[in-house]
Amino acid sequence: MDRLIDSEKAKDLRHLIEESERVVLTCHVRPDGDAIGSTLGLWHLLRRLGKEATVIVPDKAPAVLSFLPGFKDIAVYTCHAEFCEKTVGESDLILCCDFNTPSRQDALAPLIQNAHSRKVLIDHHREPDAFADLMISYPDMSSTCELCFRLIASMGFYSEVGVDCATCLLTGIVTDTRNFTVNCKHPDLYEILMRLLEKGVDKEKIVRESLNTKSYWGLKLESFAISERMKVYPAHKCALITLSKEDLDRFHYERGDTEGLVNRPLEVRDIRYSIFMREDPDCVKVSARSCDNFPVSEICKDLFNGGGHLQAAGGEFHGTLEECKNLMIESMPNYDKYL
Ligand code: 5GP
Ligand code: MN
Repeated sequence: MDRLIDSEKAKDLRHLIEESERVVLTCHVRPDGDAIGSTLGLWHLLRRLGKEATVIVPDKAPAVLSFLPGFKDIAVYTCHAEFCEKTVGESDLILCCDFNTPSRQDALAPLIQNAHSRKVLIDHHREPDAFADLMISYPDMSSTCELCFRLIASMGFYSEVGVDCATCLLTGIVTDTRNFTVNCKHPDLYEILMRLLEKGVDKEKIVRESLNTKSYWGLKLESFAISERMKVYPAHKCALITLSKEDLDRFHYERGDTEGLVNRPLEVRDIRYSIFMREDPDCVKVSARSCDNFPVSEICKDLFNGGGHLQAAGGEFHGTLEECKNLMIESMPNYDKYL
């Protein structure tokens, strides 16, 4: 089960945990199921081990994750900066989950980077920056939650995993693999699923809550986006959805409402990749998904100051939505070589 993990790393992490009393767990901005699942999952474990632990996130987590045990105990930096500063200042260990570079934490980055506590990176994104004392980076894993499970087993803490920890970890695996439909070729992943089910998790509830639940307006917005704002470019096997601030306002957009939308155009036959652009207050947020290993991470790196995984990536564009859209359309031929 834990054979893919470097046993030295697991030993080092176990020592760091044993030597620490106050642990902060943190993740990337606009946290998703894997970011919240991994931090909260480890939070449950650390509490079971008698540690004082706090999950600190850069900004609010989406409401669809509020079913997770411990969700209401998460400290949000944009809402409770002072508390977060005090907690980080008093901590002796910081576990950085599901991000590979400080900039993915936006305004929270300086607080974490300047902290005197020891830091551990626990992540599955490619090419991490070496900002932590202990780097546990496994880009081949489906999710940071899968990595956490393997680490826990490798550290000898499997018996300390309760149903709450297991629920959080399975949520990250379920959201990053879209309920075992992408990035889930490794047979071991199903053994992990089996172990988590043995711990008593309710997989059906996790799938329903984290993937298949939307607000009324969220569903209307998704339908509108597909029928009115999706364009396909058959020559490039690409689909593009753009939503302006006006569109978002019309459907009473709230954070999390467009989660999953970028996947929908991949349902169109012969579409290899899908790009979604949303006009946020501070930037145009870009999300990209693909199938058959078309490297959307390259597109996000080249054009949108971002990155991610081969088949799931994102970035930001500072300019108008129209400029962002035109940049993508003009650049499409450059990526035909990957088709
Ligand atoms: P999403 O489309 O769900 O926002 O993000 C999908 C994946 O793309 C994330 O798991 C993350 O790896 C990556 N990603 C999203 N936004 C950014 C970004 O702004 N910068 C970088 N470097 N990666 C991003
Ligand atoms: Mn992840």
